[in-house]
Amino acid sequence: MKYDVVVVGAGPVGSTAARYAAMNGAKVLLLEEHSSIGSPVGCTGLLSTRAVEECDLKPSDEFVFNSVRGAFVHAPDGQYLPIDGKQTKAYVVSRKNFDRALAVMAVEEGVELSLKTRAVGFEKESSEAGTGTKENGTKKSSPVKLKVLRNGKPETISTSVVIGADGVKSRIASYAGLGKPARILPGIQIEAPYASDDSDFVELFPGSSAPGFFAWTVPLDEKVSRIGLALEPGLALEPGLACKIGPGENSPLSYLEKLLCSNPHIKERYSGGMLDFVVGGIPIGPLEKTFSDGVLLAGDAAGQTKPTSGGGVYTGAFAAKIAGKIAAEAALEGDTSARRLSEYDRLWRKGLAKELEVGMKIHDYMGKLEDSQLNELIGSLNTPSILNTITEYGDMDHPSVLMRKLMFSGNSLRLMKAFGTFVKTLF
Ligand SMILES: Cc1cc2nc3c(=O)[nH]c(=O)nc-3n(C[C@H](O)[C@H](O)[C@H](O)COP(=O)(O)OP(=O)(O)OC[C@H]3O[C@@H](n4cnc5c(N)ncnc54)[C@H](O)[C@@H]3O)c2cc1C
Repeated sequence: MKYDVVVVGAGPVGSTAARYAAMNGAKVLLLEEHSSIGSPVGCTGLLSTRAVEECDLKPSDEFVFNSVRGAFVHAPDGQYLPIDGKQTKAYVVSRKNFDRALAVMAVEEGVELSLKTRAVGFEKESSEAGTGTKENGTKKSSPVKLKVLRNGKPETISTSVVIGADGVKSRIASYAGLGKPARILPGIQIEAPYASDDSDFVELFPGSSAPGFFAWTVPLDEKVSRIGLALEPGLALEPGLACKIGPGENSPLSYLEKLLCSNPHIKERYSGGMLDFVVGGIPIGPLEKTFSDGVLLAGDAAGQTKPTSGGGVYTGAFAAKIAGKIAAEAALEGDTSARRLSEYDRLWRKGLAKELEVGMKIHDYMGKLEDSQLNELIGSLNTPSILNTITEYGDMDHPSVLMRKLMFSGNSLRLMKAFGTFVKTLF
């Protein structure tokens, strides 16, 4: 069977890319290695209202557990910054049900979905896929031969374009020689009984409890929260321990245990035990190239995650729509060369690259601050004028908008004191 587009990975990005390819006239196959969509989950499920919209979904009881309107940002010394967005800013979702809703939409659009089907390589000759030869002046592309294990049995699937939406450990990226994200933050999280002060707010804990990134509590309701953290391996872990999830003095698990047992705020509200346990890696920094002959990468596979929050659903869905459209158009035109597919790379970077770049600078700056510096920074931002600006312009998908507004809203002296010359380097 020959397809126009085969999408590897039925996460939010794969289902969205597949749907957009089908909407643009392609015959599409969506592969998922697991026997169930949305499982296992490697996510906190905190999605901005914009992220849900970007996926063309309306918030629904089918996948939304809770709505949040702000955050309490806790300094290491116990003071906190109350950021109240005054209206729903994000949803706490069941990622399993969210991913399933997106897969259903893809199937409704005509996408063929194949579970228990793992992509395991390209057949040799497909390295020439998309290179294109001129025949009567027309560009032609040879198909990609994707090797899969369907229910454990080997098969080869022929397609014009493969979209690798196979997550942070993307095999498609490595088969296509596109490399891997330079940095992957190991993340760990439990869902547990936790008495929230206010279940309309998430809690964030930057500082030494999660070196290089932050810890969080995200309420499902007033009794249960997702409590987790992610780390910057270079800052937190001994060399060689990077991404190790498990016991050990410097492992993410040991940091989580310390957070639960030693952070006075969390210790007081956490009643012990867990209802769910999640581990996963967050790619930081996009790949230099997200296309090759007959191949595109989207979502975590392309490192499109936001470096400030670790969220990848909004950015991934944004890129997925472009990937689906360009893949379909290229396949139907009969030109799937790297040159033709590079349009995808150009378009997604046009929409996201600047924000990811600013986000990376904020990530690197914040991650290196000592606890004492964070105490001072959070203390100095706690003024009515700054909090009002954060309320008005705070945006988890576009942090640069807030930084710019803060700089030019009469707070610049205070900000310069708090951030030094760093803010100037952002723009
Ligand atoms: C601890 C943690 C918390 C997070 N919290 C948030 C959050 O609150 N909000 C947010 O927006 N983001 C969050 N993220 C990031 C978010 O989970 C990812 O950015 C998002 O899931 C990326 O979607 P994706 O479709 O690219 O990849 P994935 O969701 O990882 O989906 C990839 C799919 O591909 C399948 N697959 C892999 N290899 C193959 C293969 N060879 N063949 C077939 N199928 C394959 C996998 O089984 C999987 O279903 C978090 C990540 C972590 C680790």
